[in-house]
Amino acid sequence: MKRKTTQSQLVVLSSPSGGGKTTIARALVGRKDEYQISISATTRAPRQHEQDGVDYYFMSEGEFAEKVEKGEFLEYEQVHGNFYGTLKSEVNRLLAHGYTVIFDIDVYGALSIKKRYPRAILIFIRPPSLYELKRRLSKRKTENPATIQKRLERLPEEYEKARYFDYDITNDKLKSTIEQIIKIIEKHQQKESHVSDRTIQE
Ligand code: ADP
Ligand code: 5GP
Repeated sequence: MKRKTTQSQLVVLSSPSGGGKTTIARALVGRKDEYQISISATTRAPRQHEQDGVDYYFMSEGEFAEKVEKGEFLEYEQVHGNFYGTLKSEVNRLLAHGYTVIFDIDVYGALSIKKRYPRAILIFIRPPSLYELKRRLSKRKTENPATIQKRLERLPEEYEKARYFDYDITNDKLKSTIEQIIKIIEKHQQKESHVSDRTIQE
């Protein structure tokens, strides 16, 4: 079990697909014992090397719909044709252990969390250029050209929502991006009371 902190925060990372949020979230958790990633539920099929309960809680549309019906999600959205959602039980589990919770979710999910928890820190991750975004997406080799295109079609609305975020960071050099985010979280921990001890309810 990792070290407990007394200043839990909700830190939401959003970006266009391929912007680097999964890489960044993992690097943050690698750097700080008190950070943990909120594992989302999804109806998307697992990619090669993805594991249930590690990368996502993979489930059928029927199972997902049942959880929606029962009010088990803090937020959920349909993204690129699949459903993705944050389970209240997941966030409660992490907050109960005193973790700062890192969310890797889409822009609409981020805004839902902000509405409910105004002290959540919303960080928009921007790729350095469209060229570099396409290069990173192709290099990742998880999507075929058609699904890459589908993901790129969402860019304008994602960039439009960036203005509602607390921070807008360009993910050029990964190391520098990580340093900037840690600084932001620590700055908030110093100046604000924390969200730990609260549980997510109805
Ligand atoms: P997202 O989760 O936002 O879809 P990923 O974290 O999967 O994005 O990153 C997309 C690809 O870009 C991955 O292959 C990752 O290794 C690479 N990547 C992420 N950040 C950087 C960076 N700062 N410089 C170079 N490559 C990066
Ligand atoms: P991917 O299929 O590349 O893993 O994720 C596609 C998109 O869904 C990304 O923008 C990712 O951040 C978003 N996403 C993942 N989990 C959640 C979630 O729980 N809620 C919302 N709203 N979006 C999510």
